[in-house]
Amino acid sequence: MSTTFISLTELKRNFAEVKAGMKPKEAIEESNRCLFCYDAPCTHACPTGIDIPSFIKKIATGNLKGSARTIMDANPVGASCSRVCPTEELCEGACVLNHSSKPILIGQLQRYATDWAIKNEQILFKAGASNGKTVAIVGSGPAGLAAARELARFGFKVTVFEAKEQAGGLDTYGIVSFRLPPEISLWEVEQVRQLGVEFRMNTRVGVDVSAAELVRDYDAVVLAVGMSKVPMLGIEGEELTGVYDAIDFVEATKTAPDLDESFIGKRIAVIGAGNTAIDAATCSVRLGAGNVQIVYRRTQEEMTAYDFEYEFAKLDGVAFQWLTAPKRILGDEQGNVIGIECVRMELLETDDGGRKRPVPIAGSEFVIDVDAVIKAIGQTKHISLIEQFGLAHSRGTVTLVDAAAGMTSNPKVFAAGDVIFGDGQGEAMVVSAAQQGKLVAYAIYKQLVKGQEASA
Ligand SMILES: Cc1cc2nc3c(=O)[nH]c(=O)nc-3n(C[C@H](O)[C@H](O)[C@H](O)COP(=O)(O)OP(=O)(O)OC[C@H]3O[C@@H](n4cnc5c(N)ncnc54)[C@H](O)[C@@H]3O)c2cc1C
Ligand code: SF4
Repeated sequence: MSTTFISLTELKRNFAEVKAGMKPKEAIEESNRCLFCYDAPCTHACPTGIDIPSFIKKIATGNLKGSARTIMDANPVGASCSRVCPTEELCEGACVLNHSSKPILIGQLQRYATDWAIKNEQILFKAGASNGKTVAIVGSGPAGLAAARELARFGFKVTVFEAKEQAGGLDTYGIVSFRLPPEISLWEVEQVRQLGVEFRMNTRVGVDVSAAELVRDYDAVVLAVGMSKVPMLGIEGEELTGVYDAIDFVEATKTAPDLDESFIGKRIAVIGAGNTAIDAATCSVRLGAGNVQIVYRRTQEEMTAYDFEYEFAKLDGVAFQWLTAPKRILGDEQGNVIGIECVRMELLETDDGGRKRPVPIAGSEFVIDVDAVIKAIGQTKHISLIEQFGLAHSRGTVTLVDAAAGMTSNPKVFAAGDVIFGDGQGEAMVVSAAQQGKLVAYAIYKQLVKGQEASA
């Protein structure tokens, strides 16, 4: 086992944001590179439709408040998105300068403007005049926050029910601090709170208040609870000490006042190859682990992590075991993890020509000596809560009767964010959750205010 010792102070420092923000000179120069396209493709490629040329022009002319307003107007979690969006697949990927030189660094400019607003304690929006209607929002992640912000601007009385102590969902608790410090997401929460939105924290709907009460007591309900825990691997040894759920693991690094010292020098296997797996692996490195490897049953081509996440993990020294599946976790007499038995896989064509199927290669079993195993094979769904609301769903993905409006099988209940992700529906991204939250707010406004004005 590697015993390289890194002081706790140094480890803590390692959780500081990795990417530095732009300096004023850099931001001005970069914004002046923009061609300010008419009907800009970058704006079309942004799920929230931020008027990118407009916010960049405002940076170029020194109007940082105006720039932050343009960004946050279209995207209530625009400060978080500037750090976590896969920009090369979205706005920057669509930049016309890709054909001649390099794309405008839209994410970084967005961060520059919103960081200015955060630093200068700007309040960017006002609540609308009361329209007398009430909405309950379940969950305060990007989807719930975006819905709350837009509804408050339409004059609704909005109450957000949140199971955790702090609002912001995975932006606050799930995406690693060195990419998204929690204070960024908490600033976005404050922008919504100051519109008069009430946040009932530590309140789990379905336990502390029932689904039926919300449907009875409010004019509309928005279900924005995201997804839940990592599923079980279904193999021997999962109960051993040293087996972690990746979501809980990352959350601990974002909330613990003192970082866990027990990872120093340890050998870690992370199971899975999505963004959560990468985050768990890079967190382990920052906790001082001696060796971190990602175990994935398919190949790099099939991994779901963003390219920038993969590159980041490689830079952090994370190793990858492709075409490898865990068979059982091995423990010592005290019940602590000591290894993981794996089997090599091969990918076989499926009869229907769909995604290749990983199949174990008989006799290829081998053991990796590890001190901890972090499970990161996706997230389970909030099926019980969805059923308490009586909503139609497909294996925990809420079924929408009108996807553009987030309308569920109950006309009073709307859904947005990761709770509608799955089975080919939706996208698990902060920016798309925010857009879905906005769309739900517009649908509720149309149904409860506009529709009634028209029929009056
Ligand atoms: C580790 C990790 C890394 C990621 N990295 C990225 C990234 O780099 N870029 C990107 O775009 N996306 C990333 N994602 C995905 C992104 O975080 C999600 O798609 C997004 O947060 C979904 O927003 P949401 O509002 O639907 O759900 P969430 O953010 O999950 O928020 C749901 C909220 O509902 C609350 N809640 C749940 N049940 C109840 C209940 N019964 N009562 C009250 N409240 C409840 C939860 O506590 C939570 O606050 C990542 C996800 C993970 C797990
Ligand atoms: S929100 Fe994301 S996709 Fe949209 S412009 Fe900003 S960084 Fe690009």
